[in-house]
Amino acid sequence: MLDWLIIGGGPQGTHLALVLLGRGGVAPERLRILDPHEALLAHWERCTAATGMTHLRSTIVHHLALDPHDLWHFARRRGAQPGQFRGPYRRPALGLFRDHCQSLIAEHDLERQHVRGRASGLARTEHGWRVESDQGALVAQRVLLALSVGEQPRWPAWAAQLRAAGGPVRHLYGCQEPALAAAAGETVVVGGGISAAQVAVSLARAAPGSVTLLMRHAIRIEAFDSPPGWVGPKELRGFQAEPSVERRRALIRGARRPGSMPEDVARTLLRAERRGLLRIVRGEVQQACLHPDGTVELETSGETLRADQVLLATGFEQQRPGGAWLDRAIAEHDLPLAPCGYPVVAPSLAWAPGLYVTGALAELELGPVARNIAGARHAGERLRVAGGA
Ligand SMILES: Cc1cc2nc3c(=O)[nH]c(=O)nc-3n(C[C@H](O)[C@H](O)[C@H](O)COP(=O)(O)OP(=O)(O)OC[C@H]3O[C@@H](n4cnc5c(N)ncnc54)[C@H](O)[C@@H]3O)c2cc1C
Repeated sequence: MLDWLIIGGGPQGTHLALVLLGRGGVAPERLRILDPHEALLAHWERCTAATGMTHLRSTIVHHLALDPHDLWHFARRRGAQPGQFRGPYRRPALGLFRDHCQSLIAEHDLERQHVRGRASGLARTEHGWRVESDQGALVAQRVLLALSVGEQPRWPAWAAQLRAAGGPVRHLYGCQEPALAAAAGETVVVGGGISAAQVAVSLARAAPGSVTLLMRHAIRIEAFDSPPGWVGPKELRGFQAEPSVERRRALIRGARRPGSMPEDVARTLLRAERRGLLRIVRGEVQQACLHPDGTVELETSGETLRADQVLLATGFEQQRPGGAWLDRAIAEHDLPLAPCGYPVVAPSLAWAPGLYVTGALAELELGPVARNIAGARHAGERLRVAGGA
């Protein structure tokens, strides 16, 4: 029997594996990370690469190592390179962040702990949990659910209909779909946040003048996807003192800044527009129609757009991640849920004895940054404080 099984090998699962091994004294052979991708962090790498982003949105101290200064030391060891940190929060370049993650994985030989598979069931045993997967059953004393909304790309109804009709529409985070061809004619990017801006600029650089960014609201400038006070005690103290999960959910909603982007991303976008690389149109799709020649007509509240391909940068569905197998486990084990459908967990992040959560599933405990790298770091502290690590 394993000591720990982590389900999900994204930034959350990978950081918490490092916490358990590094601070918790868990022996490597007593821990596994179950994730269906070819390598740990593969899903995160695909999503970030798809946007064409150059820098993370988060700061220099938000990374996967235990020591908050580790990324800085790593960068120094590699030697100064232009543009490796950006802005007052010293946001790391994506390439630097990726190399740092890979060096941590190599240093701790973490791929050896990676079981390439997908969880499909969860049952209690006398001393822990049994996780069913397409690779067989895994039994562990403690299980950590490190799932995310990342497998739930949001498809507006018009786009789903267009796809069903065979139209050239894909989602930026739809890993199964073929990549978009930059030179395939007119492209309409739909979305109003950081990823929409980044991918529109990146496509427009490859094929100047052929990209339209359709935004349903004006550009919203925010440094992060929630105000920085939520990373520390300033906001979190009040949040954690709040006993009502409904009010906690309302606080999370109030703190989130969906559809926003940092100032430098907005500046780059507007510069691309001024230079005629792309067009920005304000409006919302009201109707989409597929023409016999394979092109698409998008009737928006502003104007009608013609496109050879449509790219959705519309984010993720916000329902509880996990899907049907987790729904079954919740029903079978009577796991407590808030009215919003998310887990009600202890301050130790335990949902039931030996069953822990992190990331999106822990947000009623960790607040609006739970899904981010900062949230993974908070989760690491909680597991440690609780004696779990
Ligand atoms: C483009 C982009 C840029 C971002 N930039 C930042 C940033 O700069 N800073 C920041 O703090 N946050 C950022 N985020 C937000 C957040 O940090 C990321 O979404 C991050 O990937 C979340 O980590 P995760 O481990 O929860 O999710 P994921 O990376 O999605 O990993 C979850 C893993 O669980 C696996 N999984 C799901 N179901 C199962 C199952 N049944 N069995 C086994 N495995 C399963 C998935 O396949 C996946 O590999 C960004 C998000 C995106 C999309």
